[in-house]
Amino acid sequence: MDLMQEKKQDIRYLKGVGPKKAELLGKLGIGTVEDLLYYLPRRYEDRGNFSLIKDVKVGGYQAIRGNVLTFGLTRTRKGVNIFQLALGDKTGVIYCTWFNQPFLKKFFKIEQEIIIYGKVEKHRKLQISHPEFEIVEKGAHSVNIGKIVPIYPLTRDVSQRYVRFLTREAITRFISSAKEKLPVNMRARTHLVDLQFALRNIHFPGSFENLDRAYRRIVFEEFFLLQLALALKKRDAKTSLNGITHSVKPSLGDSFKKLLTFELTPSQLKVISEIERDMSSPKPMNRLLQGDVGSGKTAVAVYALLLTVKNGYQGAVMAPTEILARQHYINISELLMPLGVNVRLLVAGLDPQKKLRVKQEIEKGDSDIVIGTHALIQENVDFKKLGLVVIDEQHKFGVSQRSLLREKGLSPDVLLMTATPIPRTLAMTVYGDLDMSVIKELPKGRRPITTYCLEEEKREKVYQFIAEEVKNGRQAYIVYPRIWSGKGSPETSLKAAAHMYNKLQERIFPSLKLGLIHGRMKVKEKDEIMKKFKDRKIDILVSTTVIEVGIDIANASVMLVENAERFGLSQLHQLRGRVGRGDFPSYCILIGNPKTESAKRRFDTMQETQDGFKVAEEDLELRGSGEFFGTRQHGLPELRFGNILRDFDIMEQARSEAFELVKCDPHLADPRNAFVLDALKKRFEGKLELANVG
Ligand code: ADP
Ligand code: MG
Repeated sequence: MDLMQEKKQDIRYLKGVGPKKAELLGKLGIGTVEDLLYYLPRRYEDRGNFSLIKDVKVGGYQAIRGNVLTFGLTRTRKGVNIFQLALGDKTGVIYCTWFNQPFLKKFFKIEQEIIIYGKVEKHRKLQISHPEFEIVEKGAHSVNIGKIVPIYPLTRDVSQRYVRFLTREAITRFISSAKEKLPVNMRARTHLVDLQFALRNIHFPGSFENLDRAYRRIVFEEFFLLQLALALKKRDAKTSLNGITHSVKPSLGDSFKKLLTFELTPSQLKVISEIERDMSSPKPMNRLLQGDVGSGKTAVAVYALLLTVKNGYQGAVMAPTEILARQHYINISELLMPLGVNVRLLVAGLDPQKKLRVKQEIEKGDSDIVIGTHALIQENVDFKKLGLVVIDEQHKFGVSQRSLLREKGLSPDVLLMTATPIPRTLAMTVYGDLDMSVIKELPKGRRPITTYCLEEEKREKVYQFIAEEVKNGRQAYIVYPRIWSGKGSPETSLKAAAHMYNKLQERIFPSLKLGLIHGRMKVKEKDEIMKKFKDRKIDILVSTTVIEVGIDIANASVMLVENAERFGLSQLHQLRGRVGRGDFPSYCILIGNPKTESAKRRFDTMQETQDGFKVAEEDLELRGSGEFFGTRQHGLPELRFGNILRDFDIMEQARSEAFELVKCDPHLADPRNAFVLDALKKRFEGKLELANVG
């Protein structure tokens, strides 16, 4: 029987699986024998070491081997059946109790040798409620007790015992048909055990060492297939030579630098040269630029835009919010005006006539650079000659949104940007098909931001502090979360911000100018408020989280976040990045009451580090890779076995092997790779386009 047939082998072919059980197993995602073989234990218990009754640790889980001394059934007045059994070894006696399982009586005989496992308690006597047990029969297979025992993730009405029994059955009957997928030479090179050994030992490990080897093998296989898919995707992008060959003249770089009021940092220069290399090649650029908030990604993007415009193409910049798009519009058009570059804004909030005009200009090629929001892809916009697509805060967009913009041109170059640093582990998985650039350092002269985590009773002091900063010429943000637990309990961020805006203006800062900004405002209103803030006509900006992304006001020095425990770590870091953009000391103040362990760690991390990559690593660890921003949106299947943080070294190895394989056999046409190809297709059926393989 080969793998294909085995895959179809319905779980009901196994002994002990009737229609009812099959349905329950279905809930666990187990429909076939193969599903079962790959249904991995959640953890393991070492039941190989029996403890003597005199040595048992009360409160701990213990395996005990002994003989049945007595047993019997009693019934309480309320009608509960209690089955009790006394077990003895040379050193003492322990009592086992089961409620409402009178049938257990049939299983035992006096003096019979048994093994029990469970949590030891002591109420006058030593006892274990509902222990797992196994009757010692000489020579029989014992899968439940007496060794390293698998503990499976389960649903109601399916017992550990039952799943262990089934897995044992499946292994005995079907393991020999599980075909090896990984090429032999690669397994030898990477010291991976074969599939059958791995499956056997992942369920019933002979030792913890074997378990490690089995786990490594199974996780490697999963990572390897993923990386193989990414390698193929990247190969496809790289081999298409139909991109735009931009020509790079050194004079352009010089005139660009003259426009700037600052010197580019070494990181910025390096990234610019990487982009020049990509853009001057006939292969389409597909590059992700990471850089902490304020590291100067926009300047780099502007140069790339200039490059495409000077080559006779158009550039498009898509940002996730209207505020951000407008801010880019103002900055970029100011900067490039002296060079005669035509910059246009396209957002949903424009009045229809103006919007129509802008669209016509784009179509005719009269506008060189268009900056916008989702409107760029939603409205029917046609570019005359699109050469470069820049997507800011790219993780706020889905895969399809990003490719929609790309498809408005003929293989334009693409630059994705993100201010939420992506941990290397995640980048390698989710963005494994992109080229990566990182701006490592912040521009010179930036002062560090001091972060305080404070409790409610310090509030008065914080207000005083803000008032002082304003007196010294600075400005401040106060941000409210979606849900707010202050007095009067408004339910939404909007209500909280609006409510507090009135209160703060009237009672706390009567002599200062406050502004309110939130997502429900009309675009014009938002614009006016932001402009006022920028022109220092507002001292304190009260806001919902609309302020989170990309806002750049150098004079603001305080970011106060209310109910900060309700924000995610990356979000807090983003908010903090709104200050510290000028030449004076800045402060991020988190007021909140972190009750959960995770909230405490978020606060600690914020106080300990300002390094966006560290924050991101920690965030990833706290939330898990599935929850971490964007992962779900990228169309990659979730990992079933491996954990990209814990198993990072395996991922690295799998990646280098996968990329090497694609280098040697770009279309996986070698018959020796047939099994890999087969597995790859099965794994990514309908989830990833795999062109040109086989
Ligand atoms: P990001 O987009 O990475 O958050 P920006 O490009 O908005 O950062 O830059 C933040 C601020 O720093 C802007 O006001 C920008 O003009 C300024 N800036 C960018 N690069 C430099 C540099 N090399 N030296 C000094 N200031 C810089
Ligand atoms: Mg930015």
